[in-house]
Amino acid sequence: MMDSSTTPATRLTERINPQLINQLVQRLADYAPQSDVEGAFPENEFQWLADAGLLGITLPDQELDFNQPQTGELLQLLKRIGSGNLSVGRLYEGHLNALLLIHLFGTTEQQKRYYADVIDHQRLFSVWNTQADDGVRIHAVGAGRYVLKGAKTFCSGAGWIQRPLITGELIGADRTGWQMCIVPTESVKAIPQDDRFWQPLGMRSSASFKLDFTGIEVNEHDLLGAPGDYLRQPYFSGGAIRFAAVQLGAAEALVNETRTYLNNLNRISDPFQQARVAEMACLVESGSQWLTSAGDKTDAWLAQHAEADKIVAYANMTRTAIEQICLRTLELAERSVGARGLLRPLPFERIHRDLSMYLRQPAPDAALTQTGHYVLQNLSRIHDLWH
Ligand SMILES: Cc1cc2nc3c(=O)[nH]c(=O)nc-3n(C[C@H](O)[C@H](O)[C@H](O)COP(=O)(O)OP(=O)(O)OC[C@H]3O[C@@H](n4cnc5c(N)ncnc54)[C@H](O)[C@@H]3O)c2cc1C
Repeated sequence: MMDSSTTPATRLTERINPQLINQLVQRLADYAPQSDVEGAFPENEFQWLADAGLLGITLPDQELDFNQPQTGELLQLLKRIGSGNLSVGRLYEGHLNALLLIHLFGTTEQQKRYYADVIDHQRLFSVWNTQADDGVRIHAVGAGRYVLKGAKTFCSGAGWIQRPLITGELIGADRTGWQMCIVPTESVKAIPQDDRFWQPLGMRSSASFKLDFTGIEVNEHDLLGAPGDYLRQPYFSGGAIRFAAVQLGAAEALVNETRTYLNNLNRISDPFQQARVAEMACLVESGSQWLTSAGDKTDAWLAQHAEADKIVAYANMTRTAIEQICLRTLELAERSVGARGLLRPLPFERIHRDLSMYLRQPAPDAALTQTGHYVLQNLSRIHDLWH
């Protein structure tokens, strides 16, 4: 979509400000009913994000440069985008996740090349790791060439993504293991996509299809990092704070919409409605504090080379707490607006579908038990564990 654009690189700090973000979030929310279509991709929305300078915001010398400890601010940005449109938030998170992996594991040459893809061409990235029984294998065929075999499921953005970062089992090279590679989509043969896979409860316009990479050829310089790097902790599980931030955005949107709805019906003096709105306000603010705390602690602990298990445990607590916050907010919002409020064109029905679907992220049980294990085997006082 934005591949051929030649928008000049401008320092994002000159363009981004809270007012601009507020306007963008409102625009996303206003347009969300139109892009709520199965099989569609929010192309207009990503053009707006590109215009606002958000695609490259984490690149060197930009506002949220990954070289600086600013994770809390990044999480707040993800939350805001998620509050406008959850599918857009999911896709944007995938784009930034790929850029983070390039920042962590890319060679200098790869970083230069991929950052130029974003700055000069506004190309979109994603991370596609999930797969079923027919998952991806990366076969070394000699002379620095590799042939892929197998498919990925839940490929958010599908054919609209120009630089998908996919993972697969590396075979036949002098090294083996779970390898990342970035597919330069314009230079490989067409990648068949199964859009029938994507008949979801919600998150329609995230276009999370199944894609078959069989027969796709890549080069050595398309492989990112070493086998196993993708799963390296604390980055792998610690990244859960980013999807939690996007999820919380939808809970905030529910509170905003509930308030508007109750005001429109002149139902704001009722003590039960007041109590529910108070609880919702409390919940989403607690979620926001989790994000700030998780962002600050992650940055500080990474700088101190703290143990990975501790960072992962805190991230797991954050995602678990935010999942509960979102589930409770859904329940309270539904009770406040009633059946009448759940009719289209009011937004509750769509946000409910989107959030219910997007709350289903990998391994929630394992996330909880990892935290439990960490707390049980560490005999410091609870206060000292995290402070
Ligand atoms: C909108 C959306 C977009 C997505 N986009 C992407 C994307 O771009 N890239 C990507 O890689 N992935 C993507 N995903 C996939 C996502 O990251 C998760 O992998 C997926 O949502 C988890 O699916 P599941 O809930 O069916 O998992 P399951 O693993 O089936 O989990 C379901 C439940 O079973 C439990 N469970 C898990 N394993 C076991 C076991 N062995 N025994 C017993 N119980 C178990 C879990 O704890 C959970 O309670 C997306 C998902 C959604 C919803």
